[in-house]
Amino acid sequence: MSVTFPLLIDGRWRAGARDRILAVINPATGDRIGDVALAERADLDEALAAAERGLAEWSAVSPWQRGALLKKAADLLRADAEDAARTMTLEQGKPLAEARAEVLRSADFLEWGGEEARRISGRMIQGREAAQSIQVETHPIGVVAAFTPWNFPMALAAKKFAGALGAGCSIICKPSEETPGSAIALARALLGAGVPQAAIAIVFGEPAEVSSYLIPARAVAKITFTGSIPVGKLLASAAGQVMKPVTMELGGHAPTIVCGDVDPEKAADFLARAKFANSGQICLSPTRFFVEESVRARFTARMVEHARAWRVGDGLDPQTQMGPLASERRVEAVSKLVEDARDRGAIVAAGGERLGNRGFFYAPTILTDVPDEAAILREEPFGPVAPILPFSDEEAMLAAANGLEFGLSAYVFTGDAARQKRLKDALQFGAIGINDVVSHPPDVPLGGWKESGYGTEGGIEILEPYQKVKFVSLR
Ligand code: NAD
Repeated sequence: MSVTFPLLIDGRWRAGARDRILAVINPATGDRIGDVALAERADLDEALAAAERGLAEWSAVSPWQRGALLKKAADLLRADAEDAARTMTLEQGKPLAEARAEVLRSADFLEWGGEEARRISGRMIQGREAAQSIQVETHPIGVVAAFTPWNFPMALAAKKFAGALGAGCSIICKPSEETPGSAIALARALLGAGVPQAAIAIVFGEPAEVSSYLIPARAVAKITFTGSIPVGKLLASAAGQVMKPVTMELGGHAPTIVCGDVDPEKAADFLARAKFANSGQICLSPTRFFVEESVRARFTARMVEHARAWRVGDGLDPQTQMGPLASERRVEAVSKLVEDARDRGAIVAAGGERLGNRGFFYAPTILTDVPDEAAILREEPFGPVAPILPFSDEEAMLAAANGLEFGLSAYVFTGDAARQKRLKDALQFGAIGINDVVSHPPDVPLGGWKESGYGTEGGIEILEPYQKVKFVSLR
């Protein structure tokens, strides 16, 4: 059977053993753009056996050569950027310009992982006695099982491929079934560059079925996941049962502190763009806007102006500033949070509704007068919704900002250097923007604090999650 979005197992693009498929939907139209193949246990067994062979083969390739192949894959991906971006927009909804940027960022990750491969080294330690010395070696950790989401369907997989392949590991990735084409384009570039066929696999399936089979599988040595905190806890528990190391990149609920000394219109111009990027479906998205009372009215007015004027539409239209949400499920989740806030007394100053009767569009939304008990102040909105929370007491604001289980990113807008330092030091988050909102370039280690996860991805540490250490005492 031929299927639009096949599995990749041992170098073969193919359907699953029982030909199970799932429709892939264009979120801008609701139309089916194709089907994705779903894997059975027999398929996963094949992927595991191939990955063990792939590990032996790939880890024997010198790190310099691995680096060269990853650089080549990055170049192939760059050359394919237009097609890959179009695929991404069709399956995920984001504007084409954002999709293009994501493909290029994915290529940068592959290249960065390859460059770091060239710097793999061990060290020698003096023994306690003259005749003794200790050698510390780094080795690829083994077969990696990776689970990646739909919001950045290529970049979040590329980070894991870059680290795992750079370190010399083979990798089986289960991307989201809702956005299969982007991971497929990534894998095609890797194969095209000459990464051994057995070293990479792409499997789709029923997520819980696949993860509960791969995590305890004897061949798998490392689990890496990007997604929601509840699913992260599930996978980390399963990994704990078999004592396998895990990297968890989970959700955020970023406090965004706008202080009274800034130009509120300028801050709103900058933050509206950050808020509505990828329709707010970004773990680093600004989500709780703590605005100092003296600039609250002007900041809110400008945000409302932007929300009303923002051009929402099909991501393929070059005029579009914001695409649809990725799925009907996300429209329901975002609507529920906004309705809950409204029911509890919040004012919907802009948006607050689904747009049109085709596709999964939701209006850019600004909420004011949001009561403490509103669910949106505790649950990550993962949508184009900005609750504005006035403050005048910095200490109380900080307590609220730090008061959730999330610890991914936080933003501070002020020109006052002392205040920048005070707030930066007090915020319990893994990434801070000062007069800035963070994205994730490959040369930076990103990792959440608290329940936003553990471990980091990227930076000069990009290979570490995929390495194990052996020390050898020589006498
Ligand atoms: P969800 O919790 O149902 O799924 C999140 C991701 O995990 C999806 O890609 C899904 O395919 C996968 N998944 C679900 N159950 C799994 C299992 N048992 N084993 C393996 N993978 C599994 O949520 P959703 O509706 O898809 O996304 C909404 C929430 O997810 C958001 O609120 C956000 O918190 C979170 N999220 C975070 C990121 C991130 O970058 N950290 C990315 C996407 C989603």
